[in-house]
Amino acid sequence: MAELEGKRVLVTGSGAGIGKAIATLFTERGARVVVSDIDAETAEKAAAEIGAAGVANCDVTDEAQVQAAVARAVEILGGLDVLVNNAGIEISSPLLQQSTESFERIHAVNVRGPFVAMKAAIPHLMESRGNVVNIASIAGLGGSPLLGSYCASKAALIQMTRVAAVEMRPTGVRFNAVCPGFADTAMVERLVPDFEAATQVPFGDLVAQKQGRLGTPTDIAEVAAFLASDRASWVTGSAYVLDGGLSASLV
Ligand code: NAP
Repeated sequence: MAELEGKRVLVTGSGAGIGKAIATLFTERGARVVVSDIDAETAEKAAAEIGAAGVANCDVTDEAQVQAAVARAVEILGGLDVLVNNAGIEISSPLLQQSTESFERIHAVNVRGPFVAMKAAIPHLMESRGNVVNIASIAGLGGSPLLGSYCASKAALIQMTRVAAVEMRPTGVRFNAVCPGFADTAMVERLVPDFEAATQVPFGDLVAQKQGRLGTPTDIAEVAAFLASDRASWVTGSAYVLDGGLSASLV
């Protein structure tokens, strides 16, 4: 039987990048996936490419939209087994030069978004004894220049994952976080010029030295698939690192 046979899944921010790779791999492994994105056209295109079960769009900063997207996904799928909170943004800035509005924006997407999505999904996940996979980052475990507010937001996401896992353990609903290093997506492409300016090192050299290579969106989807599957039935509250060894090294 395929790893995710029959699993009913909603993935936020799955029109592109890591979310799209998760929606694709989960579908290949037998899941029925509802694609969701802030951009309707991107979502429709991705869903058609993937052969997804449907589309339920939302901007994760809008609680009413998130609630409606979860309800629509449940309607399409006939229930919900897995919520993947993938939608996230980066803003590069020295922390103490960042505007308060920009700091709040990153938390609205990366922390409040998953929070309201988990609240909307929990009644359905309790019914299915399902699970949540939160796409965090190694930036939630260690600091990085230029990514102060992003680091803070991903640390918050990891901590919410842990607390939800402990509080909800009696219900059988599992919560796990995935913490990737740099992966090959539009988000990292946007960061490269600022990183190169700050470090004076070509980004390709930095990546080769620190993590061997860029991660692929599929590297991350593979770990998400394991955590979402019944093979991970004893895994909850984890923050699973995949970064080519970047965070393992002090030099
Ligand atoms: P990406 O290429 O920018 O894709 C993110 C997707 O989320 C896009 O389709 C984007 O739509 C959508 N999105 C943005 N804001 C949204 C909102 N408010 N509501 C709903 N959807 C929204 O990013 P990615 O690299 O795939 O990142 C996916 C997740 O992995 C993020 O949580 C990120 O923090 C995390 N992560 C990424 C890396 C990496 O190296 N790439 C490493 C660690 C963790 P638009 O393009 O239309 O804005």
